[in-house]
Amino acid sequence: MQSVEKAAGGRVVILGCGGTIAGRAESDQDTVGYRAAEIGVDVLVAAVPALRALPLEAEQVAQVDSKDMTPAIWQQLAARVAFHLARPEVAGVVVTHGTDTLEETAYFLHRVLAPSKPLVLTAAMRPATALMADGPQNLLDAVTLARHPGARGVLAVIGGEVYPGGELRKVHSRRLRAFSAGDAGPLGRIDDGRFERWRDWPAGVGLGLPAIAAAAAKWPRVEIVTNHAGADGRIVDALLAQGGVDAIVFAGTGNGTLALGLEAAALRAVAAGVPVLRASRCGWGPVLGGNAALPAAGALSVAQARVELLLRCLISAQGDRTG
Ligand code: ASP
Repeated sequence: MQSVEKAAGGRVVILGCGGTIAGRAESDQDTVGYRAAEIGVDVLVAAVPALRALPLEAEQVAQVDSKDMTPAIWQQLAARVAFHLARPEVAGVVVTHGTDTLEETAYFLHRVLAPSKPLVLTAAMRPATALMADGPQNLLDAVTLARHPGARGVLAVIGGEVYPGGELRKVHSRRLRAFSAGDAGPLGRIDDGRFERWRDWPAGVGLGLPAIAAAAAKWPRVEIVTNHAGADGRIVDALLAQGGVDAIVFAGTGNGTLALGLEAAALRAVAAGVPVLRASRCGWGPVLGGNAALPAAGALSVAQARVELLLRCLISAQGDRTG
């Protein structure tokens, strides 16, 4: 069996962003009433004996409960990731993060950087102080993957399962294996330091850091509106009347369907120049086909579709400035 020490690979930089993996509770029995984002990334690394012999660096980029993640932190994180991945001696970067918005951060980094080296996100469902904390094993697995020969792209590893970052979805509020990559399934898994791959590495061309540089001043405002029994679209009209909404994601029912009143309001938004995407409030499955005026989000989750529109708004704003 291949151990971490035997695995090929060079230096790994671990960037801490907070989350439950860095969470602390008063009691080792408490996996609910803890405070996320309390423990520094250097302490998390030091707590894993198998990491001690490896060439690692740790850097704290942020310290937040990921429910409070912001585009400004994404921008800062993307810059630090790009900086470290450009260093020839660095084999890969690991990011420790909360689970709640992990799919958004992963999708953002995938679309902006699409790195040719591995960028591995990991997280935990139990705080670091829990009797059976899952963070240390997840961190060890993430470093193993970041040093794996040929690994590339944005990846996530949790509970031994490896996912393409761009396809990641949090699908359970409590389970240790709380994630999925939809119908295509995980990219592979890690058992006792041995990685088995079932799918291709993530592909794609990143938009690049300059594409998000101008956003520091003002990030676009992209709202999410959910379809439900009795949805009448007045919330969309309120957004349009208020002004300042740059794009809207519709969390449709089933295959992205909208109640007649909400659909009419969505079309009014499009007519007013507000781009939209229709995703699904189902936890699993794509949105396909349908109305060209109200485009489908495909395989993107509601939260990822929001990131996609955020990036599209930035790019079109840049086009307006340079065009
Ligand atoms: N609220 C936490 C976070 O997302 C949950 C977790 O990490 O599991 O930071």
